[in-house]
Amino acid sequence: MKALVYGGPGQKTWTDVPDPQIIRSTDAIVRVDTTTICGTDLHILKGDVPAVQPGRILGHEGVGTVIAVGDAVEAITVGQRVLISCIKSCGHCANCKTGLYSHCLGDEGRSGIGWVFGHLIDGTQAEFVRVPYADNSLYPLPESVTDGEAVMLSDILPTGFEIGVQYGQVAPGDVVAVIGAGPVGLAAIATAGLYGAGAIVAIDIDENRLEQAKAFGATHTVVSGRPEWRDEVLAVTDGAGVDVAIEAVGVPDTFTMATEIVRPGGHLANVGVHGKPVPLHVENLWIQNISISMGLVNTNTTPMLLKLVTQHKIPADRLATHRFDFDHVEEAYDTFSRAADTHALKVLISH
Ligand code: NAD
Ligand code: ZN
Repeated sequence: MKALVYGGPGQKTWTDVPDPQIIRSTDAIVRVDTTTICGTDLHILKGDVPAVQPGRILGHEGVGTVIAVGDAVEAITVGQRVLISCIKSCGHCANCKTGLYSHCLGDEGRSGIGWVFGHLIDGTQAEFVRVPYADNSLYPLPESVTDGEAVMLSDILPTGFEIGVQYGQVAPGDVVAVIGAGPVGLAAIATAGLYGAGAIVAIDIDENRLEQAKAFGATHTVVSGRPEWRDEVLAVTDGAGVDVAIEAVGVPDTFTMATEIVRPGGHLANVGVHGKPVPLHVENLWIQNISISMGLVNTNTTPMLLKLVTQHKIPADRLATHRFDFDHVEEAYDTFSRAADTHALKVLISH
C-alpha cells in the first residue's frame, strides 16, 4: 500500500510500504476512505514531538471500511463503515473504566498514553491502518453522516468540547472567550452552546478565521495583537472578565492572554499543545479564585457528538474547506500549512 512516512524533521514521503496485518486478536484492519491533517502533524514535522521516530506512518484522524478483524473482536464486523478515534482505548483498564481513555493503560504503543496513531504506532494517512482494541477505538457510522463530517469527530470536535467546554465548566449565560479560531477553537465555539453559553467571543490574529468563527456560533470577534484587544473582550462582559477563557493556540502569549481576561471565580481551559514553558503569575492569580485545566482529549464524548452531527446540530461539514485524493497528500499538507494564505480549515484526503 501507499502511506505518508515520516523521515525525521521536515521530511515526509508518500511511498510504498507493506500492508498492515492483524497482530493481536483485538485488532481490526481498516481501509482508510478519508483522512485529514491536524496542527499536531505539523508540530511532529517541525521535530517538536521527538517520540515520533523516522519510518512512522503519520495521521490520527480517519473514516474507513473494516476489511479484517481479529478473533476476539465482537462489536465490529467486516464491511462496516467506521470512525477511527485518535485515542486508543482497551476498554478494560482502570483509566478506561472511568472514561480517561487519554491515559489508557493498554500496552499498545505505550501504556498510559491514549494517543498512539501517527505517534507511537502507524497512523491513518495511509491506504490501510491497523487499529488496536477495535471494539472500543472504532465507532460504526450511520449512512447519513458523510466522511467529511465524521472525520471531524476523530479529534477536533471532542478536543474542543471536552478539553475546552467541559473542562472550562461552561454554564448557562456564561461569556466564553476562545483564543485561537483554528479547527480546534472553532470546535469549542461550535459546542459551547451545548451548555448554554450566552456570548462567545472568538479571538485571533487572522481576520479570515474570525469571519469563519461567526458561522460556528461566535457572537463577537476580537482581533488580537492590538493594544485594545483586552478592552474589547471586557466590553462583552460586565467589565470583570469572561466566565470561561479557552486557550486553543499552544504558545505562551495566548496562555497569558487567557489569564488576563478571566474573571474572579472563572475558569481557564488550556487546550493548546505547548512546546515551551509558560510563565504562570501565581503572585497575581492566587487571589482570583480561578481554576486552570488542561489535558489530552479522551474522546469519551464521541458517541454523543456523533448524534449531534447526525442531527445537524453541529456544523461539522463547514470545517472541511479543501479536498484532495491520496496521490496529492503532499499538496494537502502544503495547503494546510499555509492556512493564512489558503484560508484552509481542515483539508480532506480521500480515495
Ligand atoms: P491551528 O494552528 O490551525 O489554529 C491556531 C489558531 O491560533 C490560528 O487561527 C492562528 O491564527 C491563531 N493564533 C496564532 N497565534 C495567535 C495569537 N498570538 N493570538 C491569537 N491567535 C493566534 O491549530 P488547531 O488545529 O486549531 O489546534 C489548536 C491547538 O490545539 C494546537 O496547539 C493543537 O496542537 C492543540 N490540540 C490539542 C489537543 C488536546 O488533546 N489537548 C488535541 C488536538 C489539538
Ligand atoms: Zn485502557
